[in-house]
Amino acid sequence: MISQEMLALGRQGSIIRAIFEYGNRRKAEIGADKVFDFSLGNPSVPAPESVAEAIRSALSETDPVVLHGYTSAPGSMQTRSAIAASIRERFGVPSTPDCIYMTAGAAASLTITLKALVLPGEEVLVPVPYFPEYRTFIENAGGKLTPVAPDGRMFPDLADLEAKLTPNVKAIILNSPNNPSGAVYSVEVIERITALLKRKSVEFGAPIYLISDEPYRELVWSGVEVPYLPCYYDNTVVCYSYSKSLSLPGERIGYVALSPTMEDRGEVFAAVCGAGRSLGFVCAPSLFQAVAAKCTAEHSDFSVYIENRALLLSALSEYGFDCIRPDGAFYLFMKSPEPDAYAFYEKAKRHELLLVPSDDFGVGGYVRISYCVSTEQIKRSLPAFRKLAQEYGLC
Ligand code: PLP
Repeated sequence: MISQEMLALGRQGSIIRAIFEYGNRRKAEIGADKVFDFSLGNPSVPAPESVAEAIRSALSETDPVVLHGYTSAPGSMQTRSAIAASIRERFGVPSTPDCIYMTAGAAASLTITLKALVLPGEEVLVPVPYFPEYRTFIENAGGKLTPVAPDGRMFPDLADLEAKLTPNVKAIILNSPNNPSGAVYSVEVIERITALLKRKSVEFGAPIYLISDEPYRELVWSGVEVPYLPCYYDNTVVCYSYSKSLSLPGERIGYVALSPTMEDRGEVFAAVCGAGRSLGFVCAPSLFQAVAAKCTAEHSDFSVYIENRALLLSALSEYGFDCIRPDGAFYLFMKSPEPDAYAFYEKAKRHELLLVPSDDFGVGGYVRISYCVSTEQIKRSLPAFRKLAQEYGLC
């Protein structure tokens, strides 16, 4: 007998992937230009030129045996030093290389962090709506996902957060800019959340860790600020990835950064190294560690996302749809005109619009629209959105 739990997980797959695969089959049937696939969060803009330059210079300047060889388990000292320096410079936090553990993207950063922190049966709080894989990652670490209700802006409801903060809670994951809502938590909200966590940590006599999952940090619109959480809370673990900022999701590169002022940081870092070891996430891809070291301050050209966001927001509200105004990431969270988001998804599908129903994000009644697609696709899809709105009598 093999693991029934893993078998179920593998068979079930993710709804986002299932929609994406359906989209590919449908495109083969009726033509790629007739299917409007808004399912996946795969960046549609290329990596900046500085990434290609960093690859070229790594290839020409480094001994290939070293370049393609193993680095030390937590990552090369050169890369970890460059990232720590960048954190010091950008956020004024005294980071050092021994706070940084290089990973194969944010998924690995999260699984390592959860494995390092969570004891069997402990809870991890997750504000709704959330990235569906959190449940898998938390349960794999032996923990239990406890959802925290959202307020009208899709920020965590602070009364619900306080009610859920019991001595059994080991950590909370904050994801801002948020997938799927696009919400960016304000400084004021972060101050209130961290004040609550500090008060409860003292009351319970044990640290409650703040895990900041921030692959969308640089993707912010309308000039909003994304607070750097170690500036507000000592027991913070930042889970970062270059998948979205540098458009490198297939290269699998990111890091875990412990707050330098974390309690027992040396011990937590050793546990992160142990978790990496136990999960087989040692020595992140070495060529892309070299790229990360050279591109700490770079990001892709996001002008396409800015244009797509504006186009969609104005067209969809003109047609009568109700959207959460996204300040960041490349997702639009739109209210389903009927309570059952899955039924709405099915109706949208008849117009070749592939949207993701919100149930797997922990809340019913919405769909997620990934606008990291070509602007052409958005323009071509608008008549279908209009027809869908007409079907519901919205316009
Ligand atoms: N966290 C969030 C909120 C995400 O949206 C994603 C990917 O879409 C990840 C983590 C995983 O990122 P990565 O591709 O770097 O593993």
